[in-house]
Amino acid sequence: MLSRIWGIANGQLGMGKGKAAVKIDQLPASHNSPMPSEVAVEKKKLEKPPLEIHYLGDRVLRQPAKRINRVDAEIRQLIREMLQTMYSADGIGLAAPQVAVHKQLIVIDCDPDKPENLPLVLINPAIQKLQGDVCVFQEGCLSVPGVYMDVKRPEVVEVTYKDEQGRPKKLTATGLLSRAIQHEMDHLNGVLFVDRVENNLALSEELKKHGFSAQAVNRID
Ligand SMILES: [Zn+2]
Repeated sequence: MLSRIWGIANGQLGMGKGKAAVKIDQLPASHNSPMPSEVAVEKKKLEKPPLEIHYLGDRVLRQPAKRINRVDAEIRQLIREMLQTMYSADGIGLAAPQVAVHKQLIVIDCDPDKPENLPLVLINPAIQKLQGDVCVFQEGCLSVPGVYMDVKRPEVVEVTYKDEQGRPKKLTATGLLSRAIQHEMDHLNGVLFVDRVENNLALSEELKKHGFSAQAVNRID
């Protein structure tokens, strides 16, 4: 999960992309209308979110997720519960492995304060292209609460996926949305943003400060 605070940090860093630019192909008309989609939930904090978020050090975060063969009512219920859990935790993205469900499913909402902005649901997402400059942004993750570190990633991502109705989609994203997609897709492969942090010493200190063990990090060099 990307934290909301990280989203704000993105703007504060002045990377020239306070807003994510997004081009969504084959977008259904309903996506831009104020009518809620079938999986839309009220954007509010629940006292008892339906799902439990797992933290760094928990092995469930390290297991790769499996493809979803059928997008049915059960999957849509999981999507609603993931969205409720994400909004309750002030997140802008959540991947199913973070709630111990090993399915290739991601929910993202870069505008959690705007009720009219529908969340993005990505089922079985596959990266087609990574483009643009490699950018440094500060990321956080509610599976590693309190820890915010610089991570390098390509600026642009092109991804194919299925939506909550099982319809094939393609989207090209930059800015915050691109970050969120790449961060959440890592979760589907059992990878956490701390694995990608290059400043090992600073990371160890940050993890220690927030009660995490540096041994739980699987470095990607
Ligand atoms: Zn995360």
